[in-house]
Amino acid sequence: MNVGQLSKLIGIAFLALTLQIAGQDKNEYSVQRTTMIEKQIVSRGVTDEEVISVMTDVPRHLFIDESQWPIAYSDGPLPIGHGQTISQPYIVAFMTELLQPDTHHSVLEIGTGSGYQAAVLARLVHHVYTIEIVPELGRSARQTLKRLSYDNVSVQIGDGYKGWPKEAPFDRIILTAAPEEVPQALVDQLKPGGRMVLPVGPRWWGQDLLVIEKDSTGEVMEKKTLPVRFVPMVHEQERKN
Ligand code: SAH
Repeated sequence: MNVGQLSKLIGIAFLALTLQIAGQDKNEYSVQRTTMIEKQIVSRGVTDEEVISVMTDVPRHLFIDESQWPIAYSDGPLPIGHGQTISQPYIVAFMTELLQPDTHHSVLEIGTGSGYQAAVLARLVHHVYTIEIVPELGRSARQTLKRLSYDNVSVQIGDGYKGWPKEAPFDRIILTAAPEEVPQALVDQLKPGGRMVLPVGPRWWGQDLLVIEKDSTGEVMEKKTLPVRFVPMVHEQERKN
């Protein structure tokens, strides 16, 4: 065997090894996702098959820093920088189920964060409009979503309290940061027959997850579900101070 043939052979062996490691990696995360679904989500009562199927697929680890990949599928929120977190997988599943998404829906999310919740929704609805107030997080989520081909998500950097009037009204609205009171501007951007899922309450303590329904006459009904703990939904003014 001459030097050329030998180096070709080494090249092929190296490629095979790399592919095998990549394959193992992919496999390992999909096994972790299946365990997450069983142990954290189905065991706590989430039954929506579409939500379960989408969360079995969406690679949560790719929405966080590589240093956190080993714990990407653990049962809790994780830091994403700027004092913010990606929500606990169970909360993402529970809120998505409560939202009752459908393939023709246009959905507004407040609090893009890592982009993970937006990615899960993107697989279930027609279009997701998501707003993030921290520019670095908004830009990074936009890049991740683009890289992973979630083409039906639009990310805006701005103040979620204003909603997205240009694209309103929405079939569904979801908040992943907690305002102290229900923001009326967002209720106004909900379609008749629409549904909104949001944590509401004081900062860090005593928040409830609410479901708001607007009937066909525009009348609004509110229902409490779980006690929760979300990062606060801040006002633009506070960020500038
Ligand atoms: N849905 C996210 C989790 C977000 S944590 C995920 O899947 O990763 C809540 C996010 O809301 C934070 O990134 C925070 O910066 C953002 N946020 C807080 N107040 C906001 C506001 N007024 N408008 C838009 N985003 C806001």
